[in-house]
Amino acid sequence: MTAADTTRSEALWQGLNPNQAGGSECVMCERSFTWPALPDPYRPEPIPGTRTGPAGIPAVPVGCSETGSQVFACAGICAALAWPD
Ligand SMILES: [Zn+2]
Repeated sequence: MTAADTTRSEALWQGLNPNQAGGSECVMCERSFTWPALPDPYRPEPIPGTRTGPAGIPAVPVGCSETGSQVFACAGICAALAWPD
């Protein structure tokens, strides 16, 4: 991937903690999207485009971690801060 190919949803996030890199915490404020912890059978699948965790926190994908996982930010101010434009 070159810089020219990078879009909002393909931005590479570096220096994230493991939870952020795995997509379970906001990349901006580290709020957990999976709190309270639920057994896997009860954990909703992430939906591309938008996601709402068990705690009812809307999250939007803002890029990928160094491991290639999709990472998320809270919908609203965190997502706005996460996007360069
Ligand atoms: Zn946040």
